[in-house]
Amino acid sequence: MQIKDVIQYLEELAPLSYAEGFDNVGLLVGNKETELSGVLVTLDTLESVVDEAIENQCNLIVSFHPIVFSGLKKFNGNSYVERVVMKAIKNDIAIYAIHTALDNTFTGVNDMICEQLGLVNRKILIPQKDTIKKLTTYVPLKEADLLKEALFNAGAGTIGNYDHCSFASNGTGSFRAQDTANPSIGKKGETHYEPETQIQVTFPKHKQSAVLKALFNTHSYEEVAYEITTLENTNQHIGMGMVGELEQPMNELDFLQHIKAVFKTGCVRHSSLLNKPIQKVAVLGGSGSFAIENAKRAGADVFITADLKYHQFYQAENQLILADIGHYESEQYTKNLIVSYLRKKISNFAIILSEKNTNPIKYL
Ligand SMILES: [Zn+2]
Repeated sequence: MQIKDVIQYLEELAPLSYAEGFDNVGLLVGNKETELSGVLVTLDTLESVVDEAIENQCNLIVSFHPIVFSGLKKFNGNSYVERVVMKAIKNDIAIYAIHTALDNTFTGVNDMICEQLGLVNRKILIPQKDTIKKLTTYVPLKEADLLKEALFNAGAGTIGNYDHCSFASNGTGSFRAQDTANPSIGKKGETHYEPETQIQVTFPKHKQSAVLKALFNTHSYEEVAYEITTLENTNQHIGMGMVGELEQPMNELDFLQHIKAVFKTGCVRHSSLLNKPIQKVAVLGGSGSFAIENAKRAGADVFITADLKYHQFYQAENQLILADIGHYESEQYTKNLIVSYLRKKISNFAIILSEKNTNPIKYL
């Protein structure tokens, strides 16, 4: 097994095209064609984590946060980032960062937070835009079923809990083959009329090359007529943050104490209590101040996130409680998610959960 095989599994869990534009995800250090010796999963790649990988004979570190975020210009070990990269390269250890690709995955970071809190009726808080595409193509009537099947197998035609979704209408296609053409139907120089089916299917944008490959491999025409458009529709299954409900409403102070215990945090910083029970809970692991208004619009009683600044607590506006549980604390269970996912996929290599607590913040 090579490192690229693990990457393929990780991309099935969280396609890199889900990541935010500002992010730096994927294989940051190393050669994907290296034989795998083992995988170490961490939230942050520090020098101590590279040491841990060496001790455990793991030559791939799967890190939630990317150790390299902006460009590095020098490699002389003056910063912790340079030292980590140099140590990894010296010891033939690859580093893969998954970050916002996993944040935006339905079964990712925020689903894991909801899981810890036992929330039901989970929905994406900020569904992503521009991730759904539509293919329209025209195929001879007798090939229509075969082509639909090939497109479905390539990942097209899934809408929520339904697959094999398509729309088809029949009509007549026309074409005239030029001298240089090599037509599969019709004669050169004569306009040919063919009973055709117009097929429309949607697909997620990261499946585009697979869908087009299926189209060209299955369609019998020399020149395949097709269009791809990007839909304005938001994708309810990809996006930042999540909102869900407690099965039983809780007193707000009890709830804050509950999250302090669940996330083992030294401190929950929160806005004023509102004297009403908590039932609807919005969550966004990591720095989530940008989603305060989304949490309000979703009707959440509380928004659990991290890295809130002084003035941002005013944005609660007596509509909900803002609760900052700490950045590391909010994302800590992500490690377990990646480990249990990889262990299900890979049984013959060690998949190790890092024992290093990489939280740079301490509490008195
Ligand atoms: Zn983070």
